[in-house]
Amino acid sequence: MTAAADLVLTNAEVHTLGSPDETHEAVAVRDGEVVRVGRAFDVELLVGVETRVVDCGGRVVLPGFIDAHTHLPMVGRSLVHADLSAADSPAEAVELLRERAAEVEADDGGAGGDGASGDGTGDETDWVLGYGYDESTWDESRYLTRDDLDAVSESLPVVAFREDLHTAGVNSVVLDRYADEMPDSGVQTAGGDAASEGVVDGDAAGEPTGVVVEGAVDVLREATEPGREEMAALVRAAQSYATARGVTGVHDMVRGSRAPEVYRDLDEAGELDLRVRINYWSDHLDALREVGLRTNHGGGSRGDLVAVGAIKTFTDGSFGGRTAKLTEPYADAAGDPDAADDETGQWVVDPEELRELVADADGSGYQLTAHAIGDAAIDAVLAAYEETDDPGSARHRVEHVELASDEAIERFAELGVVASVQPNFLKWADEGGLYDARLGERRLRTNRYRDLLDAGVDLAFGSDCMPLGPLLGVDLATDHPNPDQSLTVTEALRAYTSGAAYAGFDEDRLGTVAVGTAADLVVLDESPWETDSIRDVAVSMTVVDGRVVFERD
Ligand SMILES: [Zn+2]
Repeated sequence: MTAAADLVLTNAEVHTLGSPDETHEAVAVRDGEVVRVGRAFDVELLVGVETRVVDCGGRVVLPGFIDAHTHLPMVGRSLVHADLSAADSPAEAVELLRERAAEVEADDGGAGGDGASGDGTGDETDWVLGYGYDESTWDESRYLTRDDLDAVSESLPVVAFREDLHTAGVNSVVLDRYADEMPDSGVQTAGGDAASEGVVDGDAAGEPTGVVVEGAVDVLREATEPGREEMAALVRAAQSYATARGVTGVHDMVRGSRAPEVYRDLDEAGELDLRVRINYWSDHLDALREVGLRTNHGGGSRGDLVAVGAIKTFTDGSFGGRTAKLTEPYADAAGDPDAADDETGQWVVDPEELRELVADADGSGYQLTAHAIGDAAIDAVLAAYEETDDPGSARHRVEHVELASDEAIERFAELGVVASVQPNFLKWADEGGLYDARLGERRLRTNRYRDLLDAGVDLAFGSDCMPLGPLLGVDLATDHPNPDQSLTVTEALRAYTSGAAYAGFDEDRLGTVAVGTAADLVVLDESPWETDSIRDVAVSMTVVDGRVVFERD
């Protein structure tokens, strides 16, 4: 006597995405696990009175997507606060902020709310915040100023963060409250030179323009860091967004926020809708060690969706900021002889410091993951991993891996180091694009997915939330600016499923569809193997741990 299934997806094209990829007609789920996959007739034998049966009408069912590099609270911020990436002009940005101000005012009138949560951040709700503006895409290409933002509100504090989070515009309320705490060098004044990246002499005679940069933005980021209730709202918004895109698990990068606490609270309450593997910034290493949390703690099969992941660190910056660390100068380096160092980018964490951290964390049994974009940075991380006992068993990872040399790719394979890459960055690698300007011909040697796979490197895909959405990444990876580096649809889907699962020690239970794996599944409206535009394929249902967490009506 076999117990009935909780959920049966039938009349489907179920892809296991194993090697080889097999297809089946139906899949049955019980207690959060796949209990049968095969012919519809055999699977439907498990249908009982309580079983929910979904006729998929021939649609494709895949293992759920795992995004190996996320910042979920950032996704939540643009959903809850004003999303200024949608603005095409300063006036539109102001309009979006006005709409948000009206919401904040309405919320304030209500009882309770975040401000009453008693978590020590009492006035957090009265901020009017906008994220992601990018004046470089506007005809009227200028920063948002105090004049713009005073027009949003003269009583509530208003901040418009630029996309890179290194520049922000503020209104007079914010200047009145926070100017004293901000370093003078970060507060732009009318007397200063607006062209010099916004950093001007604080002694300049003019009034503050409302444009603030760097250290002054840090003051604002700290002041607006979400409290617990606000963080819960951001995570809820982000998880809805993610599951609607077929994401059933994320490897989230966390530093000094209340996100870890909120993930665990939501999980405890049965309200977490995806698996969260937390990669903690290296600042947290001592605390984790002290409380006895190690890589892979948590994240059991049921009712325990949160796991401890890796220790995260940086090495370099980005191509956009000319801060990724290269072995050869940037193609558009200024040519200033005094700035020879900067022509190849810069270290955020230098190789010596990196080696020490890697030795320390690896010695305590932690997986490591290090941001490395330029070829010099990638080499430095591999050198640090090479000094550890068994980097392959520890599954140490490199995030981004944008400009890897032939030798680096061989070392990834030899050491067993995981390449955690973001195919959405390929949007910058086209001819005439950002990488063309920064790197010249080297743009064609970025993001070498084909070479990595052919060398036998474990490849995990993620989005870095720019934007979050696995099918966009699959689309870009199968249509690489360098055609030699394109992946097949199946390979790209594997990097977003079993590849990412491997990066999180989860390959035995996640990333494929087989009896005994966790019931994390996604139903797609169209077959990604047959459509002209994979990024436009809609998700019709997402199942996490046997529970339907998203369903389009
Ligand atoms: Zn990131």
